Amino acid sequence: MGEVLTELGQPRYRVEQAVRAQASGADDWHQVTSFSKDLRATMAERLPLWSVVPTDRQVSRDGTIKWGLALEDGAVVECVLIAHARGRRTLCVSSQVGCALACRFCATGAMGFGRDLTPWEIVDQALLARREAEREGARLTNVVFMGMGEPLQNLDAVLAACDELHRDAPGLGISARQIAISTAGWVPGITRLADHPLPVRLAISLHAADDQTRGALMPINARYPIANLLAECRRYCDRTGRRVFIEYLLLEGVNDSPADAHRLADLLRDGRFHVNLIEYNPTDGDYRASSRDRRERFVNALEDAGIQASVRRSRGADVDAACGQLAAGGRTG
Ligand code: SAH
Repeated sequence: MGEVLTELGQPRYRVEQAVRAQASGADDWHQVTSFSKDLRATMAERLPLWSVVPTDRQVSRDGTIKWGLALEDGAVVECVLIAHARGRRTLCVSSQVGCALACRFCATGAMGFGRDLTPWEIVDQALLARREAEREGARLTNVVFMGMGEPLQNLDAVLAACDELHRDAPGLGISARQIAISTAGWVPGITRLADHPLPVRLAISLHAADDQTRGALMPINARYPIANLLAECRRYCDRTGRRVFIEYLLLEGVNDSPADAHRLADLLRDGRFHVNLIEYNPTDGDYRASSRDRRERFVNALEDAGIQASVRRSRGADVDAACGQLAAGGRTG
């Protein structure tokens, strides 16, 4: 949008006017009343006001909303808005159409890679979510890059979007600490992120404590095994002074024994890590979520070894909106 406006010789504040109009409910250029009639018509011929258009909206029993979004080229992605106490809302955004990394437990991974999203397509997901939140008298306070795609493989666009999410009005004014980027372990991206000035949170999808298990779950482990990945995380902690969040999906009989917990604790010793244990959400794969009993034993074993962990409750699973279930209708099960 910015490029087209610049090409038309329009000043920079036009972009801000357009974003404000989007935020306050405009669906197309004709509703951008801060523009002259002529400019509205010219823009309408050139490109849509919104780079993402909701084609589907499902509300889960727990209030989680999942949108299917059509992009200009017809590709489809999804984003998910999760409600918390005190009117806070977290948006889970997509950064790519599909994903190249093919993690075995993830529905997006099974789709293969389509293309990178543009910064605009990422920011529009947040504008859409903010509108929805405000309609409910709530606030969009957190954005997590845990939707479709591997954000560190589209890092330029992701960082440009983060700047916009963080910037005060007409940006979204979201605090950097409330923005989280989650990666399957794309090490060069972690290196770059360590030098980025905006202090966003970094989460690593580790999911196993030994290379054999992790390699079977996540093909990226062949390229960046656990030791390399965690060494880069430690470097990131040293450079930024921030903690790294470790995501660990509990899969029954695969990675959830007390021995796995001890191995994980050994790996994370002396580091500034926080572990989030994730419940597995069913996809078409062969895996099963750990039973409550095994989960509790895992948490206790970690705690005995001095590692703090939180269990992240799954949200939106009844409309396939939970982690790992985003597949733009591509799921067959
Ligand atoms: N590509 C990034 C971000 C997208 S996935 C990454 O891998 O981190 C967001 C989180 O959901 C990751 O931790 C991912 O491993 C996890 N996830 C994938 N499939 C899942 C499933 N079926 N159930 C629960 N979590 C899943």
